[in-house]
Amino acid sequence: MTTVTKEAGAPVPADAGAFLSVRDLHVSFKTEDGVVKAVDGLSFDLERGRTLGIVGESGSGKSVTNLTILGLHNPQFTTVEGEILLEGQELTTARESQLERLRGNKVAMIFQDPLTALSPYYTVGRQIAEPFMKHTGASKKAAWARAVEMLGKVGIPNPKERASDYPHQFSGGMRQRAMIAMALVCDPDLLIADEPTTALDVTVQAQILDLLKDLQQEFGSAIIFITHDLGVIADMADDIMVMYAGGAVERGTTAEVLRSPQHPYTWGLLNSMPRLDSDLSAPLAPIPGTPPSLLNPPSGCRFHPRCTFQDRVDGNRCVTERPLLAPDRASACHLTAEQKHTIFVEEIRPRLG
Ligand code: SF4
Repeated sequence: MTTVTKEAGAPVPADAGAFLSVRDLHVSFKTEDGVVKAVDGLSFDLERGRTLGIVGESGSGKSVTNLTILGLHNPQFTTVEGEILLEGQELTTARESQLERLRGNKVAMIFQDPLTALSPYYTVGRQIAEPFMKHTGASKKAAWARAVEMLGKVGIPNPKERASDYPHQFSGGMRQRAMIAMALVCDPDLLIADEPTTALDVTVQAQILDLLKDLQQEFGSAIIFITHDLGVIADMADDIMVMYAGGAVERGTTAEVLRSPQHPYTWGLLNSMPRLDSDLSAPLAPIPGTPPSLLNPPSGCRFHPRCTFQDRVDGNRCVTERPLLAPDRASACHLTAEQKHTIFVEEIRPRLG
């Protein structure tokens, strides 16, 4: 178990060996309507060679967390508190020039839509070669050769010729491969993949996921894989962190979380997933309600307005007291461990099949 997660206010044991340590991270934005608390007390560790899957609905804070790690937030409108330590280097207070050196070199990101990340005005080869030249000081010729090599690695046929193409001459799947090549060209230690296959059809999606797994083995990078799809996480991640309304509500190894999920929100996510072996005419079971506004989040457990299990908790605790995530395998929920187990075995699992 390499990922340690706790909610705000609870101490997290320091892990000297962690490659990436996020500690009590708070990220908020000033808007015309008030302050949005996009991330509210998030902590986790990640080691090299491991993949952490972060899952949650839109607005859960998963993408904001990762953009903050990369320093891609607008400091004019964003307040960041807490610590982000990359090999011991504090990123929340790093200068832009330091972050620029890190981005593309030590840390790289694969975005959901390659068209927003690739410029239409330059050839694919040039866009892969440039970060390599910038970070390694390689000559133009050597960088071009590296770009061709990377295009070959990510499975682009005839990479020598295709390197001179523009992004619009590539298919969607090929553009996504080119973006992976661009992200990996400097052999980053941390790769952040934000919904990298959402826009692709299932066959290409499977190919891209296989490619990422192969490349991780080759490059030994740590990967943060962001998705709303637990099926993809099951295939990709060593550990899972489930986020809701700016905080982590459950974490554990992938096997633990998928075999015996403990949080009502995770149960809801699993229950709302389409299954091949279920009655296809039966309606899906979405989680009732909508994610809360982060301008004015609910009191106590942020999931309580949508949770159908709060009447099993003594008193009014779900409404008044924010549950914390313990340092071992755990979920941020006031239900007792025994209740969680019994509810999952007797009420949730039979529905999941
Ligand atoms: Fe539901 Fe209460 Fe647990 Fe929150 S703390 S998930 S409201 S039972």
